[in-house]
Amino acid sequence: MAYVFENCANLWVMTEVIVLNKAAIERAVSVLANSNNTVVVTGAGISTEAGIPDFRGEKGIYRTLGEDRVMQIINIDAFRRQPEVFWEFYRKYFDFPPVEPSHAHKMLARMEQKGRVSAVVTQNIDGLHDKAGSKKVIAVHGTADRFVCTGSRCRACYESEYVRDYPQTVPRCSECGSTLKPDVVLFGEPIQNYMDARQQIMDARVLVVIGSSLTVYPLAGFVKEFSTFYQDMIIINKGPTAMDHAALVKIEVEKSTGEILEEIDRQLDRFK
Ligand SMILES: [Zn+2]
Repeated sequence: MAYVFENCANLWVMTEVIVLNKAAIERAVSVLANSNNTVVVTGAGISTEAGIPDFRGEKGIYRTLGEDRVMQIINIDAFRRQPEVFWEFYRKYFDFPPVEPSHAHKMLARMEQKGRVSAVVTQNIDGLHDKAGSKKVIAVHGTADRFVCTGSRCRACYESEYVRDYPQTVPRCSECGSTLKPDVVLFGEPIQNYMDARQQIMDARVLVVIGSSLTVYPLAGFVKEFSTFYQDMIIINKGPTAMDHAALVKIEVEKSTGEILEEIDRQLDRFK
């Protein structure tokens, strides 16, 4: 009896979420059904649903330690000048236990498989889109579970285990002895795949922004540029974003982004 009751309660919550966004979801579905090139932009919001803390969120290190301090250390100059300080800080605050992709990550991979998503451009460094099975992923801030040798002729790559098990604070390349650097974009470094990311976004027929408040540049700039020329932008986010006014559809996330994507995908099946 208890089981049935609990099940009903869950169903009720899910239905409530869908009902609240019913009109917005239907609008999004009709826009997506006519798109032959849908590009998705994702930010921290999609990964908090997988258990990854949002650096810029309320309890994130940008708030607790202060953005200035983080920027002073997670900085390419600081990395070059004082690798010990950098690595001590990085190991303390950026070394997360491995997590599994959220339902939303998995839904995006499924929608790509069905030909409904052409590419994902992400600000996240957790590698969860790849882990969920998405094939075309442009990670503009790099990937935290990969480490590169800074030796100018070497460029060897290492996985997390090597760095985690390294006996000293500053991990070094086993080939040439140079310092290793996380393959993430530090302050003072250009973003990765700049041209590719911008091109994907500008070529999109429909742009879907998920879990980003659209305040981190240059990606927010690409989205702004897209919205200046085209109107077909859908925003799925918990809370307001800097570009809600420019979106054709805004879907407010009450509980789960994955649930909303699942509903959109289910309704798209009818358009086949
Ligand atoms: Zn090396």
